[in-house]
Amino acid sequence: MTQKILDVAGLSKHFGGVEATHDVDFEIARGAQEAIIGPNGAGKSTFFNLLTGYHRPDSGTIVFDGVDVTGWAPHRIAKAGVSRAFQVSTIFHAMTVFENVRTAVHAQMGKSLSLFGRANRVGIEETERIVDLCGLADRRDTIAGELPQGDKKRLEFAIALAGEPKLVLLDEPTAGMSQEETLETMALVDRLNAEFGLTILFTEHDMSVVFNHAHRVTLMHRGQVIVQGTPAEVRANETAQKIYLGEHHL
Ligand code: ADP
Ligand code: MG
Repeated sequence: MTQKILDVAGLSKHFGGVEATHDVDFEIARGAQEAIIGPNGAGKSTFFNLLTGYHRPDSGTIVFDGVDVTGWAPHRIAKAGVSRAFQVSTIFHAMTVFENVRTAVHAQMGKSLSLFGRANRVGIEETERIVDLCGLADRRDTIAGELPQGDKKRLEFAIALAGEPKLVLLDEPTAGMSQEETLETMALVDRLNAEFGLTILFTEHDMSVVFNHAHRVTLMHRGQVIVQGTPAEVRANETAQKIYLGEHHL
């Protein structure tokens, strides 16, 4: 097991004349919880799209968990353990919470499921574990379409966890949430990181969320990594102040 779960070198991607990411070097240690910040158009989402295989890089390498996954298709990268939660809703609205998670657990089990034939206990324990973990035990029999917004996010997270990810990418996980939902969502993120050792990388515009929930912060600007350090270091950095933090009144 390598200490670095992700090791990116020289990653570049352009769209027409725009260098969405330019020569990005980035690594994250197993078990870390980190944030990427930067103005709109900085290249954060493109970087995530490269990591998940949604875009192919023009140049550079992505090594995940010791394996060079550069150029792999999204489903292969997901299978290797990179998950992008919250991006598109993966919820089946007519199913209960429990059925949603169980469906995802079954999908992860894949073909091996057919070996069990009609045995309907397959995946139940794992489903229960994930439902509890995500704070959905009281909602397990609720129809997903009727869940309040905060619980829907939790369910999306539960569905992502069923895929047994090693690295979870969250692109603006609290966008559009109330303060209360934001706190709940980030508390769950913290728990999955601290108690279950999931490596988490998130982007976020709310600097209080960033500074309270990231162990390390990377500032991107015009496709490049500009500053990297602990929240305190980035906050005190003059370039970071000028490029981004100044507007956020910190
Ligand atoms: P961020 O997530 O930091 O706001 P993005 O990665 O979305 O930044 O965008 C970086 C730059 O790349 C922007 O100039 C954006 O317009 C451009 N871009 C991103 N995705 C595409 C795309 N699919 N096609 C064309 N241009 C894109
Ligand atoms: Mg974005």
